[in-house]
Amino acid sequence: MEIGKYSLGIGDRFGHQGKAQLQAILKAAAAGVEVTPVWNKSNREHTYIHSKPEDTRKEADAAVKALSYKGQYFVDADHINLGNVQGFITSSDFFTLDVANKIGTPSTEEAISAFVASCAKYAGHLTIPGIRHPFEVDETLLRKIAGKFLAAIHEAGNIYNFIKEQKGAGNFVTEVSMDEVESPQTPVEMFFILKMIAEQNIPAQTIAPKFTGRFNKGVDYVGEVSQFAREFEEDVLVIDYAVKEFGLPKDLKLSVHSGSDKFSIYPEIAKVLKKYDKGIHLKTAGTTWLEEVIGLALAGGKALELAKSIYKLGLTRQEELCGPYADVIDINQALLPSASEVDSWDSTKFANTLRHIPGHKDYNPSLRQLIHVGYKIAAEKGTEYTELLEQNAEIVGNCVIENLFDRHLKRLFNL
Ligand SMILES: [Zn+2]
Repeated sequence: MEIGKYSLGIGDRFGHQGKAQLQAILKAAAAGVEVTPVWNKSNREHTYIHSKPEDTRKEADAAVKALSYKGQYFVDADHINLGNVQGFITSSDFFTLDVANKIGTPSTEEAISAFVASCAKYAGHLTIPGIRHPFEVDETLLRKIAGKFLAAIHEAGNIYNFIKEQKGAGNFVTEVSMDEVESPQTPVEMFFILKMIAEQNIPAQTIAPKFTGRFNKGVDYVGEVSQFAREFEEDVLVIDYAVKEFGLPKDLKLSVHSGSDKFSIYPEIAKVLKKYDKGIHLKTAGTTWLEEVIGLALAGGKALELAKSIYKLGLTRQEELCGPYADVIDINQALLPSASEVDSWDSTKFANTLRHIPGHKDYNPSLRQLIHVGYKIAAEKGTEYTELLEQNAEIVGNCVIENLFDRHLKRLFNL
């Protein structure tokens, strides 16, 4: 089972926008780019929403059927580990093995020495085709990389084997993710991580490193764009070389997590993909939920009131809502409008404040991030929320399509 060259992770917290999301994919196809949709949902999201992995499968299958979609599609068990993967086995055919919390777990001296010895041929000046400067590799560096990552990739092997035993080799797509950590992995670390992945016999088709800069939820990239561009290009070249050196799946590609709305780096990604004719997987979870709130706001009446109440409740529960996302949000308290101010807004003002149009005078990234993590409040509202989604399906769906196609796919693929 091989995933297409370009794929888009589409999260859908409440499971109502599968069709709209697929319509965005179809618009991209009509514009000339085939993108594989991958419905992703993590264990954490399922827990908050009280949904189950089979709900995501049902949603994906229903959307595909409703639109007579003939292309490939996947259901991603996002950020799973040995402790929770079991629940995803039957419904998923894409597994994101999250080993971030095993990074730095000590390995035995024996394992470290064996790895270092196996890297002897790369010691000295390591030249990666396409990268002008060689990497200096010595025993100290190799020991450091082994000490940091061997245990994590070993764990990835354990998770992969667990899935393989139940689903059978070749019946699912494997991603290895290490993005939810503080410090980015350098291209040279990536090279040796890929060697470890090959030694564990993990047929990874996508790999999600932590890149330089901040990937805050649902807002633009924060960091040095040129530095990201250089690192991204080097990662692509490292993967290309590693695939040949270590016999990894030939279409192994980068996966960009928290990829929603990273508009300022999309053109850089596009340039590199075009230059080397490479694929990409981009995860955009969460952005669809924000479009639901925007759509409800635009619908007015009770729906607008609900959208406002999600924000107002969020204001009073910031610590609880933001806690689990502390590493991936940056809210400026001074820029959060008060409850009474938001009460005075009409549909357009609310939607313009929440919608991510860079440079728009009303756009407020702090409000956007707070609502982004506030999906728990909508979940608590239960059918009050989902019934309004259903009553306003068209206006909400149009927001979802516009967001994924016009703001994401068009920018990412230069359409
Ligand atoms: Zn991630």
